[in-house]
Amino acid sequence: MKTILTGIRPTGHLHLGHYFGAVGNWAKLQNDYETYIEIADVQALTDNFESPDKVIKSVKDLTVDLLSIGIDPNKANIFIQSLIPEIAELTIFYSNLVTISRLERNPTVKTEIKQKKELFGENGESITYGFLGYPVSQAADITAFKGNLIPVGDDQLPLLEQCREIVRKFNNIYGKTLLEPEAYLSKFPRIKGTDGNEKMGKSLGNAIFLADSDEEVKRKVMSMVTDPNKIKINDPANPDICMVYYYHKLIGNNNLTTVCEECKNGKRGCVACKKELLSKMLEFLKPVHEKQKYYNEHPEEVDEILKKGTKIAQEKAKETIKEVKRAMKINYFE
Ligand code: ATP
Ligand code: MG
Repeated sequence: MKTILTGIRPTGHLHLGHYFGAVGNWAKLQNDYETYIEIADVQALTDNFESPDKVIKSVKDLTVDLLSIGIDPNKANIFIQSLIPEIAELTIFYSNLVTISRLERNPTVKTEIKQKKELFGENGESITYGFLGYPVSQAADITAFKGNLIPVGDDQLPLLEQCREIVRKFNNIYGKTLLEPEAYLSKFPRIKGTDGNEKMGKSLGNAIFLADSDEEVKRKVMSMVTDPNKIKINDPANPDICMVYYYHKLIGNNNLTTVCEECKNGKRGCVACKKELLSKMLEFLKPVHEKQKYYNEHPEEVDEILKKGTKIAQEKAKETIKEVKRAMKINYFE
């Protein structure tokens, strides 16, 4: 049986990009695979080290969100990264197998550095050793749990490639010990932001969160970017450059052909179109909000789920570190 390892950074709530781009799949896959879902607090700290409170709060928020979209704690182990010290040990061993220039060339790292500069200015956010090295720590996450199927959004593909390189290098030097993981992408592997940006991101200010109130969702939908050439209500427009149409598609509006034709023929005003989208989104979010309310009112249940998942994850990581140390012949006094 294949093992799924995937993760999420506790830097905020889950948003629609996560749901449709990756996390929605986790709820399906958990039925057929041994599943580990890591709340990657150590990774979140690499670029949030000055705001540990935000990270800690998000650990609970995200767990609630995951449970609310159908992650079943009896099928999937949700665990906290910092409680698995073996990941940190593996990170140190693997860091010898990666050059600094290779990390600097990693396309995901490059994009994230660029985004940071756009958000914080050229010198606003300097790049730390920890941040540059997070792909190494992610390789440790994956291999610690012998994850071989990794359901992620496509922004993660270069990180997976980096992990595969580390695995190959390790196995070449120390003998076949680690598994090479493969990615599992969803039908929409990269969900755009409400501002039309290529990626909806927790930290990018362009996300609709699963925990947003109906009022917040309304505000975000009503201010979505539409075809700028459409000025009057009867002007024909191009749905392909309209974020409202994009989200109609995503949410699975079964009226899609009509939405598209009416838009192209100038028979659909943007306000009416947004209102239709809003009602579909609120319908989609209603059961999620009900579950969020339940888990927010039962924090002790959430703690128990995290404790149980972490305990199982600890056992698995202990097995792996033993095998790794044996392969490296640093299993002193064993
Ligand atoms: P941050 O900005 O803090 O990195 P994030 O929104 O990128 O937050 P992550 O926790 O890094 O979220 O990613 C969790 C998972 O969700 C990953 O598998 C990632 O590929 C996927 N994901 C995140 N954003 C999107 C998106 N817009 N479209 C598709 N998948 C996404
Ligand atoms: Mg990210």
